[in-house]
Amino acid sequence: MNETFIATASGKANPVLPLLSDDVLLNCMHCGLCLPTCPTYNLTNLERHSPRGRIQLTRAIFENQLDDAKEIQDVSEAINSCLGCLACVTACPAGVDYETIFESAKSRVQSLEKKTLASLVRDVAMKELFPNPARFKAAARVLNLLQRSPLSNNLPASLKRACDLAPEFSERFFDETYKPAPDGEPVLFLSGCIMNVAMPDIHFDTATVLKKVGATIRLPKTQTCCGALHAHNGYLDEAKQMAERNIGAFEELDAPIVLNSAGCGAMMKHYPKLFEEGSPLRRRAESVAKRVRDLSEFLVERKFSPTRKVKAKIAYQDACHLEHGQKIKAEPRTLLRSAFAEVVELNSPECCGSAGIYNLLRPDWSERFLALKIEAIRKSNADYVATANPGCLLQLRYGLREAGLKTKAIHLATALKMAT
Ligand code: SF4
Ligand code: SF4
Repeated sequence: MNETFIATASGKANPVLPLLSDDVLLNCMHCGLCLPTCPTYNLTNLERHSPRGRIQLTRAIFENQLDDAKEIQDVSEAINSCLGCLACVTACPAGVDYETIFESAKSRVQSLEKKTLASLVRDVAMKELFPNPARFKAAARVLNLLQRSPLSNNLPASLKRACDLAPEFSERFFDETYKPAPDGEPVLFLSGCIMNVAMPDIHFDTATVLKKVGATIRLPKTQTCCGALHAHNGYLDEAKQMAERNIGAFEELDAPIVLNSAGCGAMMKHYPKLFEEGSPLRRRAESVAKRVRDLSEFLVERKFSPTRKVKAKIAYQDACHLEHGQKIKAEPRTLLRSAFAEVVELNSPECCGSAGIYNLLRPDWSERFLALKIEAIRKSNADYVATANPGCLLQLRYGLREAGLKTKAIHLATALKMAT
């Protein structure tokens, strides 16, 4: 197999990539307009690290052309090095559904790869912890104890970086401490996996700014993690199961569904594509997805107006799954301009290198992308940098700490709360 284009449709039934049809792959007309927007292509200049190259490699998987272990390894490397940032989707004039191609390809390469100790640990976390909120919270409590114990100071180098990137696990979880006000327009809220146990303060800030527009958060009881990490890391069956559970949970009330995590919001808007067209679940997923709003989208719709202007300079870092996954770029800026004395742009449009768990799986490349972002923040001389995704927030905090910069990374909800 080589990296030349495969021009014709296979016409074969495809048992290995069930979400994909020939049509989706053949939409790519190989124009290359996506290439300059792709961080991994810009890093290596190699076709196999570009969206167009990865689409062709997915075609090879689709047509069952991978002949030996070396080819499987090469294709796995090319697919696994993709950030899933979706910058190529924004750039593509043909409307190629790269997200579905990427998720299908990840799922297949993962099933072909040899198991290692690291991949077995990941399997356990993805299959046994994330889909089960009770187990996930138990694990978070253990991590909270470990983080506070002297053990955390004596970790081997391989674990130290992961710990530096990890959030500080909280002693109080949002879903166990939040008490909804009896009045106000109800909006359903996804408390999520990591944010629920490690960033409850951001959720409380979100509740405060929502209150300012007359809305009160309600938490559907049977909700679970959105499944984005699963879909983007080859665990499509688990992603579908989690989507199905959330669809049921968020059907409890016909109200707006507001999310403050760009990745989770993009995933819930993407739920319909996980199910067969015309199926009852697809229709239910469509109806839920239509009600999903990012916090910034909802606040602009409801004409959020801060109480005062914060006298500070703030930069805004676009989260890929807000900018490219949900096409939301103007709303956070509009809100920040209303709340801060000065809002500055970062001269660094690409992904920060967080990308779910990419920063753990590909630390070398992740650090290269992060360095570009941190340099842009340094040049902005901003007091704060705001973003709307927990992964980006942790990545920026880690990068700023390592670089010794004083700029503080905060969530958009926290920035707006400062002005209320
Ligand atoms: S998702 Fe991002 S990293 Fe992956 S091919 Fe598209 S632009 Fe490149
Ligand atoms: S811009 Fe779209 S059509 Fe052109 S090469 Fe990239 S994915 Fe294919």
